[in-house]
Amino acid sequence: MHTRAALAVALTLALGAPPAAAQVTAIRAGRLIDPATGTAAANQIILVEGEKITAIGGNVAIPAGADVIDLSGLSVLPGLVDTHTHQAMTYKEVPENNVYYLTYILDSTPLRAIQAASNTLQLLNSGFTVIRDVGNNALYADVALRMAIEQGWMPGPTIIPSGPMIGSTGGQFWPTPEMYRQHDIMYPEYIDADSPAEIVRAVRQNLLFGAKTIKLCIDCKPWGYSVDDIKLAISEAAKGGAKVEGHCQTPEGVQRSIDAGIWAIAHGAATPEEHAEMAAKGIFLNSTDTPFTPYRGSETAFERTVASLRDAWEKKVRITFSTDFDYWNDRMKKADGEWMSRGELEINFLLTWKAAGIPAPDILKAMTITGYEEADVIKDGRGPIEVGHYADLIAVAGDPLSDIDALRDVRFVMKDGLVFKQNGVMTPAKGFHPGPVKGWRKR
Ligand SMILES: [Zn+2]
Repeated sequence: MHTRAALAVALTLALGAPPAAAQVTAIRAGRLIDPATGTAAANQIILVEGEKITAIGGNVAIPAGADVIDLSGLSVLPGLVDTHTHQAMTYKEVPENNVYYLTYILDSTPLRAIQAASNTLQLLNSGFTVIRDVGNNALYADVALRMAIEQGWMPGPTIIPSGPMIGSTGGQFWPTPEMYRQHDIMYPEYIDADSPAEIVRAVRQNLLFGAKTIKLCIDCKPWGYSVDDIKLAISEAAKGGAKVEGHCQTPEGVQRSIDAGIWAIAHGAATPEEHAEMAAKGIFLNSTDTPFTPYRGSETAFERTVASLRDAWEKKVRITFSTDFDYWNDRMKKADGEWMSRGELEINFLLTWKAAGIPAPDILKAMTITGYEEADVIKDGRGPIEVGHYADLIAVAGDPLSDIDALRDVRFVMKDGLVFKQNGVMTPAKGFHPGPVKGWRKR
């Protein structure tokens, strides 16, 4: 090769070739739903260039050479959010008899990270494009999952990981002295942090290792966290740009979290008075509303859950769709005898929302807009279908504004501008490749 040409090639390699013009995709949407207003616009065209949306409207010209995706028979809407999940956790009746201490012992972090990858693909297939993953993920398998998706090793929802849950002595466990002292059973499932110095160190460790939110066990033990403890965690988390979610299983824990000004409260322990206070302060509720089904739950627990969710909605709390889904048993089958996927199991939480009599547009808002707000992704250009935002969108056959069960049959999924599912079938081929790695510094 001529030396000057060789130099030019070397320079091009060193500096990077000029970026090729990104392929343009034009989506014809029969109806484009705006969950923020509960309205729909007919016959819209959405242009996608690379990862982002570049135009939306009824009269948008489709550029020559664009890939055209015809969704004119479908309703297009932004992707769904589950605000409280544990992707790298599946405890089972066999072999561990639903005792999740045993899951920690039997399933290594690498195995659980691969479980998380599988679960997450199933969730994307059901239309979930943003997931908050809040603890019980072994040694930062949730962070590894986020990095794998962000770097482009696999398609997947945007993950907001918490790293290990931070709790006062014992976390959610009641271990024997041997397991606690000699075998350090707490870590990595929980970080024990009792004193203010330990709380600061635990929050910093999680931020250092890639947590984007902080999860606290507020009242897993009678000694729990005080208002000052929670405030300290909130201010330390804020230094790393993270918000704090509190696991609360008692009204007292809820009250301390409210008084501290926490971002989100998990599970359904709040009283009606506390719901009113949460609404006034704009605190998000992830009430993890387990339905009563042949495979899970009890009728009395379900009645309590439905009443509590209904009350939160009436009080105008910022309610979100949250499942806490992290278990499996062999009764999780559909009428035709097929196993339900993790995505189908999560969507089935609609049973609780419908039993609470919450109107479909409000359920859809909880599953999208309020979820993006809690996950704090709108500032990054993710969530609502808007020009300049990442192209994360799904399509369903029916109208979820009048029949929320339309979400059970997602026909199309696009994430970051890549088609993941078309005509009801996963087609993720373009999401799997050996490189280039998108941002190896991404943590
Ligand atoms: Zn949970």
